[in-house]
Amino acid sequence: MLILNGREVAKEVRSSLIPRVENFSRLQGRPPHLSVIIVGDDSASHVYVKNKKIACESVGISSTIHALPAGTSQHELNTKIQSLNNAEDVDGILVQFPLPKHLSADEVLSLVAPAKDADGLTYASLGYFFAGKPFVKPCTPEGVMTILQRYRISVEGLKAVVVGRSNIVGKPMAQLLTEANATVTVCHSKTKNLSDYTRQADLVVVAAGKARLLGKEDFKKDSIVVDVGMHRNGPGGKLCGDVRFEELDGWVKAATPVPGGVGPMTIAILLQNTCILAEKRAGIKS
Ligand code: NAP
Repeated sequence: MLILNGREVAKEVRSSLIPRVENFSRLQGRPPHLSVIIVGDDSASHVYVKNKKIACESVGISSTIHALPAGTSQHELNTKIQSLNNAEDVDGILVQFPLPKHLSADEVLSLVAPAKDADGLTYASLGYFFAGKPFVKPCTPEGVMTILQRYRISVEGLKAVVVGRSNIVGKPMAQLLTEANATVTVCHSKTKNLSDYTRQADLVVVAAGKARLLGKEDFKKDSIVVDVGMHRNGPGGKLCGDVRFEELDGWVKAATPVPGGVGPMTIAILLQNTCILAEKRAGIKS
């Protein structure tokens, strides 16, 4: 079984960004700039934001963290987003979720300008994306496509199944696979006999958010399995995915592990998206 090593591919993506960031900096007199808004004290979210800042620095992108107190009002948050939408030296904006309960994710997803939406997940961004005119593509599904391309796995003509239909992963994943000429079936929690679908597929992308949901018996021999799931409570308290990876060797053709598969790609594509948005605003061809 070929292990699709997302950690390696993410490293390659990051390396490829360094000359682009240098070129942008030379032409614009400053590096691309990502602004991250975080509201409240959720410690896991603060770790994620810190990791994003470190990742930006690793390729030369500048980043600013706007840490707002837990009691921030919707009006204050909206005003902050508007000011970043209008700031000449901000190329990408990311609002870290989850927000404290009194704040509306809907408002945030309606407010961030698509030309600065580094996650590619606001309602306007998704509209452009599904119309085939993306500013940038949603990070995790684009990360999956990048892994497949890196391993020269063409999805054209493949029977693909996406398990999950969230706006963050499942729906845009199905769209990207369709654009790449796979024939795609989307399954979800109301799908009856899930494995009847997955067992037919040449490629299965699993993003159900259910630890170790699928194993060898759910996949066709020599199929390709991409596991987007991420769970901290696997056997022995280890990180695990939606797939029982250890069952796959000798059965499927290729698969992503957890950790070290799709996870590292999401942040690499976030950096790439920031670069793309910066270049687009500056009229620089990449
Ligand atoms: P989500 O919003 O909870 O969506 C889960 C989707 O899976 C829903 O569409 C749900 O169906 C479907 N589903 C749930 N149980 C199912 C089952 N038993 N059979 C078939 N479908 C089922 O989750 P998400 O945000 O898309 O994330 C999915 C997973 O990916 C999570 O583990 C998350 O942590 C991980 N993730 C990883 C990364 C990364 O960087 N690697 C990034 C994002 C997410 P309904 O629509 O019917 O409810």
